[in-house]
Amino acid sequence: MPWLNLCTRESKIAKAEISRLKNDTDSHSSEIEEKENELDGVRKKLESLSVLLEDHELLCPECKAPLLQRHFHTIFGIAGGREMEADIEIVEYECGLVLEEGKADPSYPCKNTKQNQP
Ligand SMILES: [Zn+2]
Repeated sequence: MPWLNLCTRESKIAKAEISRLKNDTDSHSSEIEEKENELDGVRKKLESLSVLLEDHELLCPECKAPLLQRHFHTIFGIAGGREMEADIEIVEYECGLVLEEGKADPSYPCKNTKQNQP
């Protein structure tokens, strides 16, 4: 420390300087702490967001690829002697997975997971 070599008058100034620097460090560390807390909050938000995305089928259930598009396909049929019409929801993901409403198996498999490939 260069302050140690200073005379009394100057050492008072030096002490003041040191305490100023110390306060600076303190305010910096609390700033850092604040940022860390902020970051932690963002991380938690992201986690809950990805859970939300999965809940709403916005991610491929196999590889978590994002939803590409979601559309409805109208089908016609005869049921109980009457002509019926129904909208089937079709969900396509970026990885190639296509899910059709009411079907247990995907119409097209997810390309990112091997067990689904023939
Ligand atoms: Zn996938």
